[in-house]
Amino acid sequence: MAVSERWDEPLARLLGKRAAGPLAALGLHTTGDLLRHYPRRYASPGRLTDLTSLVPGEHVTVMAEVRQATVRTMRSRGGVLLQAVVTDGLRELSLTFFGKHPGSLRVHESRLRPGRQGMFTGTVTVYRGSLQLTHPDYQLVGTDVDDEAAALVEASRPIPVYPASAALPTWRIQRAVRTVLDPMTEADVPDPLPDEVRARRRLPTLLEALRLVHEPYSDDDASRGRRRLRFEEAFVLQAALARRRAEAAARPGTARPAADGGLRDAFDRRLPFALTAGQRAVGEEISADLSSAEPMQRLLQGEVGSGKTVVALRAMLQVVDAGGQAALLAPTEVLAAQHLRTLRDLLGPLAEEGMLGAADRATRVVLLTGSQTAAARREALLDAASGAAGIVVGTHALLGERVQFADLGLVVVDEQHRFGVEQRDVLRSRGGDDARVPHLLVMTATPIPRTVAMTVFGDLEVSTLTEIPSGRSPVRTHVVPADNQAWLERTWARVREEVDAGRRAYVVCPRISADGDGDGGSGDDDADLLARDAVGETDARPPLRAVEEVAAELAAHPALAGVPVGVLHGRMAPAAKDEAMSAFATGRTPVLVCTTVIEVGVDVPEASAMVVLDAERFGLSQLHQLRGRVGRGREPGLCLLVARAAEGSDAAVRLETLASTTDGFALAAVDLELRREGDVLGASQSGRSSSLRLLRVVRDAELIAEARDEARTLVAEDPGLREWPALAAAIDAWLAPDAQEYLDRA
Ligand code: ADP
Ligand code: MG
Repeated sequence: MAVSERWDEPLARLLGKRAAGPLAALGLHTTGDLLRHYPRRYASPGRLTDLTSLVPGEHVTVMAEVRQATVRTMRSRGGVLLQAVVTDGLRELSLTFFGKHPGSLRVHESRLRPGRQGMFTGTVTVYRGSLQLTHPDYQLVGTDVDDEAAALVEASRPIPVYPASAALPTWRIQRAVRTVLDPMTEADVPDPLPDEVRARRRLPTLLEALRLVHEPYSDDDASRGRRRLRFEEAFVLQAALARRRAEAAARPGTARPAADGGLRDAFDRRLPFALTAGQRAVGEEISADLSSAEPMQRLLQGEVGSGKTVVALRAMLQVVDAGGQAALLAPTEVLAAQHLRTLRDLLGPLAEEGMLGAADRATRVVLLTGSQTAAARREALLDAASGAAGIVVGTHALLGERVQFADLGLVVVDEQHRFGVEQRDVLRSRGGDDARVPHLLVMTATPIPRTVAMTVFGDLEVSTLTEIPSGRSPVRTHVVPADNQAWLERTWARVREEVDAGRRAYVVCPRISADGDGDGGSGDDDADLLARDAVGETDARPPLRAVEEVAAELAAHPALAGVPVGVLHGRMAPAAKDEAMSAFATGRTPVLVCTTVIEVGVDVPEASAMVVLDAERFGLSQLHQLRGRVGRGREPGLCLLVARAAEGSDAAVRLETLASTTDGFALAAVDLELRREGDVLGASQSGRSSSLRLLRVVRDAELIAEARDEARTLVAEDPGLREWPALAAAIDAWLAPDAQEYLDRA
């Protein structure tokens, strides 16, 4: 760790406890924390805030000009009132100060002189139809300096506006930053960017950049500083990923070349459909990777329903043919159980090794989850350790200490974003021969633009399946206003029609029971990579629909008379979940009321309809994932989003967008535009997102690519980063929160 005492110095020591208190409330404890608290924007004396943008109830900071200020006595209450009016040139905002006697307001009166500009901060209220701030905190331009020339310069400088709090106006932060930053020297500020890289990119040092963003003389200064800091973020991130790649590549794997006449060939002959061109192309990439002794590190991303499972299974069979084993890791028990069923169905006699009627060459597919009976678990553990099981399917129980493989050749992680990077690594160290690293295939159904994939999964090569197997009809999506009774009735009638035609319907609710909250079971509380921007409305609205309640309602609903209704949610016992899934799959309960436990990967081809209740509560990508559960068979899918969303609201835009396209990549792009960069990394990596303050994965795609090239070159020359302690320290800091979180969860 490159140490700088100055950088790590507690603010309380530098500024005193009183000044440091409110900073600590913002999470700023050390000099470094404070200097990394960048201005959100810049105000400038010439540029007044557009006062039409003010929203009552919001805490705001505005740049405005004083128009007038008058003190008057209040007849009713006694005491005095200072009423000032500030303006943006067009509109006005009143400032109100109360006092006991005229003297108490004299200071304000003398400072708030007409023509003066300044920043005013407070909570916007409405009084007699006009906007006002009561007892605002304010800072006038150019009044800090006595010398007139200096004042002139000061008055023309951009004024940093910090993410502030009501207790701490932005200019107090600015003052603290100045106090801390002014005496700093280059030696106090370890720069993670190597000089060479900096010189090549013509970027300022970290200290220079901090001065540029915190104390700019011009807008250009600020943007030069920010550009350098953005590059630094991208570079540290990419260096971290490059180092991971290099470390993994340095450890040998085992070549698992395809064998003629093996299980994979037999499987291909059994397949009831032809592989899509994309499946074939990606299959070849993967096959080539597996044939090399350098461990594969590949991300397979594919549209929902694009047939990733078959691709993964063919890869697993190639490894089994070469004498190794494969592990398939799923994020939930439901999904693991389903994968087991799917793999066994697809393989038929090829998966019945040791059983009567098995193919000549066969293997065994076993399930390993945390909730199995001890006996079942023991058997699965034994099959994994002895090598009898060619394929082991499981949840994160597969990461358990006691799980050993005879010769683990390939790890497939389904729905990657639910697993942290470290978990991936734990599994990869479970090979029989510890020195050898298994190949890794990560699959995600959340389509992410290439640039984002590069940011988040920069340590993986990316393959993409864009094609949906032919013969599928796209899902039609409609928004149903929750307060339109006629449409609601029509919704249930449509469900009935599907059921009568021998098909099935999901009904998705945001909650399990009327008195409980969301579904926290089965790991589906992990936030989706791109989804879940649940709206935090608190105003009066009917409570969210709950599985138990809705199931009871539907069972009694005339439109569904005689139709068995099942339920599925994360709080059910694994066996009950399994039972619910298979009752639905076989059609015994053709209507399944459930939470988002079905969000990922569940595959019931007969499911043709989905009704999502309180749809405005779900994120765009999450709804897209949910919708991917229907229309997987020959029948056209139907998705009805029952929602309460005001016209023009974000939620309404989101739902209309979803209804208008089924292209997951397009949706992901829209979703990303609506999000801040931190969200992209998902809640499970939130520690990390805090180190990405300025970087925007979509906007900064080019910069990220440049940073990646620089980082890869540097790491190739010095994988241990021995020459670059400041960079190594920055990476450690970046990785640390995540590692901590992983430990916490284990
Ligand atoms: P996902 O990529 O979302 O995981 P799956 O692997 O679950 O998709 O595949 C969705 C469905 O499409 C499965 O029922 C699977 O058997 C089927 N499928 C896969 N590949 C093809 C193909 N080439 N032609 C027809 N159906 C296919
Ligand atoms: Mg899948």
